[in-house]
Amino acid sequence: MSFDSRQRFARRLARTVLDERVVAAVVSVPRELFVPPELSGAAWHDRPLPIGVGQTISQPMLVARMCELLEVQAGERVLDIGTGSGYHAAVLSRLAGWVWGVERHPELVRAAAASLAAAGIDNVTLLEGDGGRGHPDEAPYDVINVAAAASTIEELATLEDQLAVEGRMIAPVGRFEQELILVHRGPAGLTRTAVGAVRFVPLV
Ligand code: SAH
Repeated sequence: MSFDSRQRFARRLARTVLDERVVAAVVSVPRELFVPPELSGAAWHDRPLPIGVGQTISQPMLVARMCELLEVQAGERVLDIGTGSGYHAAVLSRLAGWVWGVERHPELVRAAAASLAAAGIDNVTLLEGDGGRGHPDEAPYDVINVAAAASTIEELATLEDQLAVEGRMIAPVGRFEQELILVHRGPAGLTRTAVGAVRFVPLV
């Protein structure tokens, strides 16, 4: 791990992301704990990195941007779909009250549990399973963060159903070209806004 690269990233982050709570949350999570040990030197490069079973840890600037768009408030209940390394869930846990994270690969769930414990994070519940179903037992959520791309917006209906009124969800949607979609549940129903092109692994 290089202290310098973390500082450099923190400075870039502060120039790009306006929400100071988000900047503080991202800088406070030691990303090197969420990547394989041999890649810890690259942990603060703004890149996705391999975490095993063909999956990657999300790019930190994108994690920050998604958290900013979700406007996560202290005490909120968050559902994280495609938890992978646990990194994005860790950042969300610094902003929210509790995070439930769903990941389909058991080996990633085990690694994420170890990384979260090493980072001293104790407000994340990890669940192994199909994130497309959400986690109805704890619904509704104030925030739903999706880190794997749905082919169509219709595929996200089950997750949208688990959003509280005034809840927000962000999800990459699209088969070849993906767009990040921000969903808001108002008293009168759902509003969906496209907020930029992205590239995520598919939700399977
Ligand atoms: N947020 C993660 C990024 C992981 S990449 C991080 O910060 O590290 C996306 C993850 O979604 C992968 O780990 C993949 O296994 C998982 N995934 C894909 N489809 C899924 C599904 N249907 N249910 C749960 N997890 C899924």
